[in-house]
Amino acid sequence: CGVFAIFGHENAAQLTYFALVALQHRGQESAGIATVDGLKLYHQKGMGLVSEAIPNEAMPRLSKGHAAVGHVRYSTTGVSQLINAQPLVFNFQRGNMALAHNGNLVNAHQLHSFLEHRGAIFQSTSDTEVVAHLIARSGHTDMADNIREALSIVKGAYAFCILTDDKLYAMRDANGLRPMVLGKIGDAYCVSSESCAFDTIGAEFVRDIEPGEMLIISKDGVESTRFAGSAKRALCTFEYIYFARPDSDIDGFNVHAVRKDFGKLLYREHPVEADVVIGVPDSSISSAIGYAEESGIPYEIGLIKNRYVGRTFIQPSQELRARGVKLKLNAVRKIVEGKRVVMIDDSIVRGTTSGRIVTMLREAGAVEVHVRIASPPVTHSCFYGIDTSARHELIASNKSVEQIREYIGADTLAFLTEATMMQAFGIMDGKEHGHCNACFNGKYPTEVYEDLTKSIMD
Ligand code: 5GP
Ligand code: SF4
Ligand code: MG
Repeated sequence: CGVFAIFGHENAAQLTYFALVALQHRGQESAGIATVDGLKLYHQKGMGLVSEAIPNEAMPRLSKGHAAVGHVRYSTTGVSQLINAQPLVFNFQRGNMALAHNGNLVNAHQLHSFLEHRGAIFQSTSDTEVVAHLIARSGHTDMADNIREALSIVKGAYAFCILTDDKLYAMRDANGLRPMVLGKIGDAYCVSSESCAFDTIGAEFVRDIEPGEMLIISKDGVESTRFAGSAKRALCTFEYIYFARPDSDIDGFNVHAVRKDFGKLLYREHPVEADVVIGVPDSSISSAIGYAEESGIPYEIGLIKNRYVGRTFIQPSQELRARGVKLKLNAVRKIVEGKRVVMIDDSIVRGTTSGRIVTMLREAGAVEVHVRIASPPVTHSCFYGIDTSARHELIASNKSVEQIREYIGADTLAFLTEATMMQAFGIMDGKEHGHCNACFNGKYPTEVYEDLTKSIMD
């Protein structure tokens, strides 16, 4: 998912709308905006893209607010329906509250039953609502203390934005699993899952929000406080591999530059003789350019993506996912015909995409297809909000590299190793300082409640 929020700007709603469009790659299932004017809360949510979910007619009403919070969603927990669209909005004893969350709370299921047994009535099946209940039940006079208390109970990954009638709170989980950045436009502060949204609305990038940090943004400016002590820093490496936009900077590294380095390192680790290097659009292009640059093999555009088809993994079922791939990509025959092709992809999750593309390239006349993957084999599920599937669906959890090669029909197949991948961040000792690589090595930075998490409330 993607979150964006802004406080104290006359165009809060409109800027949030544009920011959400910039964050659209982080979720296309639903979108929403909530705004406040100090007394009232206005909101609009809908299924689909930002442009579908928030019609023009909704803007005059939303524009009454001077502060706004917005969300784009793809579901990893909770079913895909409007009731789970965010921001979640509440009117409780202390006034209005709108919550938007990117990430996944690993103990939401337990907390959900705990609260239900004590009389809480849930509107949605999303893990985010648990936090709203915890905040509403907390009895402090200061809202920041209520949020702190709620977050001391939940575990997992999050970038959280909470908008009340007079303040905006932004929190990043203690491990920093999910990214969030602070920006400024005129005198107004804004926060976003990714910095590309700031470029889009003409805001200046101020800094990354720190793991365990709570920003309180109000008419008095921005105040930095903490809600959690220091934990093992563990930013999701998949943000760089696949999820984030190449023009975003996360924790000091530009996503495109990191991907390009992955490609260079991939060539050094797994060279091959070939005539042309191609990438699978869009997320593999940077790595393909890096591989080509390092190898001296020309980079070409060998695959064309239909940009009007959304990311295949957003589709809930395997069958729809599989069908989506054909709609989405076509090979450029003149480029690959009679050639030895190196095909770079960012990751292999279920193995469907690579298999189809290898077949497509052979049908278009490629004489050899060498697949190089700019990340290690995904052997473990993610519990932190990236949909890398249930473990049994992960092809690398039960097949060797040679078996995967055979399955996808490539002449050769090789993955970037974890230690080499970390070199793109200047980490040369083979460790994962500051990064979560759990989907590659099973070392989860928090408890995960494995048996429960995948079925949370679905
Ligand atoms: P698969 O191996 O499951 O067919 O898909 C891997 C390819 O699709 C990669 O090209 C990657 O860009 C994209 N992808 C598809 N689904 C997911 C997903 O759930 N998570 C991530 N991180 N990437 C995915
Ligand atoms: Fe990211 Fe993988 Fe960690 Fe999930 S398990 S947060 S996808 S690195
Ligand atoms: Mg891809």
